[in-house]
Amino acid sequence: MLRKVLIANRGEIAVRIARACYELGVASVMVYSEADRSSLHLRSGDEAYYLGASPASESYLRADRIIEVALTAGCDAVHPGYGFLSENAEFASAVVNAGLIWIGPPPPAIALMGSKIESKRLAEAHGVPVVPGYFGSDQADETLRHEAQRIGFPLLVKASAGGGGKGMRIVSDSGGLLEALQGARREASAAFGDDALMIEKYLTAPRHIEVQVLGDLHGHLRHLGERDCTIQRRHQKIVEESPSPVIDEDLRAAITSAAVTLSTAAKYSSAGTVEFIFQDGAFYFLEMNTRIQVEHPVTEEALGVDLVQAQIRIASGEFLDSIIGEPQLTRHAFEARLYAEDPNTGFLPSVGRLNRLKLPAPNENVRVDSGVSEGDSVTPFYDPMIAKIITSGPDRAQALLQMRNALNAVEVEGPKTNLGFLKWLFANPDFMDGNFSTRFIEQHYTPGIDAETPLAVLLAASRSLVGSRLATQDHDSVWRASGWRHGRQQMPLHIVVAGNTFRVTMSKEAGHVDCWAYEVQHDGVLISEGKCVVRTLSAGGSSEIALAVDMPDINGSAICRVRDRAEEGIEVSFDGLTYPVRLAESLSTDHLNKHVLGGAEDTLASPMPGKVLKLLVQEGEEVFDDQPLVIIEAMKMEFTVRAPHSGRIARLAYPQGSQVAVGDVLIEMEKAQ
Ligand code: ADP
Repeated sequence: MLRKVLIANRGEIAVRIARACYELGVASVMVYSEADRSSLHLRSGDEAYYLGASPASESYLRADRIIEVALTAGCDAVHPGYGFLSENAEFASAVVNAGLIWIGPPPPAIALMGSKIESKRLAEAHGVPVVPGYFGSDQADETLRHEAQRIGFPLLVKASAGGGGKGMRIVSDSGGLLEALQGARREASAAFGDDALMIEKYLTAPRHIEVQVLGDLHGHLRHLGERDCTIQRRHQKIVEESPSPVIDEDLRAAITSAAVTLSTAAKYSSAGTVEFIFQDGAFYFLEMNTRIQVEHPVTEEALGVDLVQAQIRIASGEFLDSIIGEPQLTRHAFEARLYAEDPNTGFLPSVGRLNRLKLPAPNENVRVDSGVSEGDSVTPFYDPMIAKIITSGPDRAQALLQMRNALNAVEVEGPKTNLGFLKWLFANPDFMDGNFSTRFIEQHYTPGIDAETPLAVLLAASRSLVGSRLATQDHDSVWRASGWRHGRQQMPLHIVVAGNTFRVTMSKEAGHVDCWAYEVQHDGVLISEGKCVVRTLSAGGSSEIALAVDMPDINGSAICRVRDRAEEGIEVSFDGLTYPVRLAESLSTDHLNKHVLGGAEDTLASPMPGKVLKLLVQEGEEVFDDQPLVIIEAMKMEFTVRAPHSGRIARLAYPQGSQVAVGDVLIEMEKAQ
């Protein structure tokens, strides 16, 4: 087994590799740039060495410096992760020449498969289908024009050395060809230092299906099933799953055997991915990625394997059989990449400090791979990914539900993110049915839309924040027995439901027990108003209750379960989904003060959900204007309810220590005559 591995990367993948090292008892050495001086990945390794300034070219791409660090630190191997130097055959060779072990495929396999043109030729030679196209070395405009006519439009111009969708141009007719060739050449030589182009038939509604392979150093190679990475923006993946909902057993056998044939022909070892494009039941080889992929966790969760550990053990000389045996596909897994990027600007990166970052709690169905924590910054220097959220379940529907719940638990404040998009996607009926192509986003997504929060959830949340109804006393009977007149006060409550802030106003309808007039706003826009009846169905112990919410205006009726999460707020479950709810923090007590007392005549309601911390007066007591009457505590804030005028305390509805909801009437007062 290896002893000490230098991880030539940063962010979540550096953390991920360090975890695999730790689990195998292998020491890990981190490297970092100026911008990453306090990054999470540094704390994940056993040692850390400074590389240089923030731009990747002065740090994570400095091959010589990285090898020097590996030797100085006494490492015996280098793991490149993905991106940066991971598919650089020269770097891999330099590592080997320095007497270190390269945790990846042999350098000649990287070089061969790193060229889209060379790898397509190899595929054709081994009977693996490729998209009809031109992959020749003659790059003259005239030749390319001639080939374009032969292939037919629409077509796709690609950089041979391409990656990340760079240098790619869709050309719909011959008129736009020359301009596309020139643009693609410029972009390709700037990005890859190589302006060789290729032309392919453009498939109009394809899916991206890729096959994970793993090979040892003894000539054994096997596939680990497929991943579906069809959901893309700018030709880049954003959501992946395994297995693919459109691949049946026969297709799986065919596509995986094509991947194994090609990888074997390339004399491949370690982890790699053979990418295909799939349309109308036929698949075509696209390219091979000669490294661990961003989306490797979906394979890990679907099959119960550890690909990074496998890479390390393969590099140590172990046999494939002893490492993974014959893993079975037993689960379905999704990965959603949470990016700091703005869907309103075509998903361009957004930078800034992560003032708030809440990620889902991991459990057997939820995994979170992240390289940042709250307070860190997303910088313009590197990939703006915040986290990968991976969920799994015994089938696709259950893995999907897990993802919707996991996304509900995410909160990010600071840079713009694609969270709203992800929530929209996982609630979209076509996506849920597995019915989508690589153009799904451009065809169906309108920036700004999010998965809808059901109205019933908002109403139940507003009525019961911080578990008012979780109090042991029978709230409803208090209402009935008192028979008091209710004030007309309207108290807007700003609540954060699954990361989205809503302003909910509920006012008691006179004469109706539990009947409320409500108004809900989101981003200053009225999204719903009407009347509702909210009834307590059961108080299942002290931490969970069921509420029935009837909304006659929209002919709706729902049962919501409300759970207390103590200082975190509450959680409302409805229709298999769970919505974390808390008070918006920007709500100052001054703000509450104004709203609660304005207009209240004979009743004083609780300004916020919380606990009656202290009663300062007794029933029957005469009080003066502005006298403090009761102290409410919630979300670690204290709020004093004061007398709006002089008078007498007619009734104290809640004893000290009770939980109350916003709007619950605490005190009934009689005005001084
Ligand atoms: P890169 O290496 O830049 O990521 P790929 O060749 O892997 O480029 O393609 C990236 C994505 O572009 C694919 O997943 C697919 O969505 C789209 N794409 C590539 N080739 C074609 C094609 N011939 N027709 C339609 N879409 C394509």
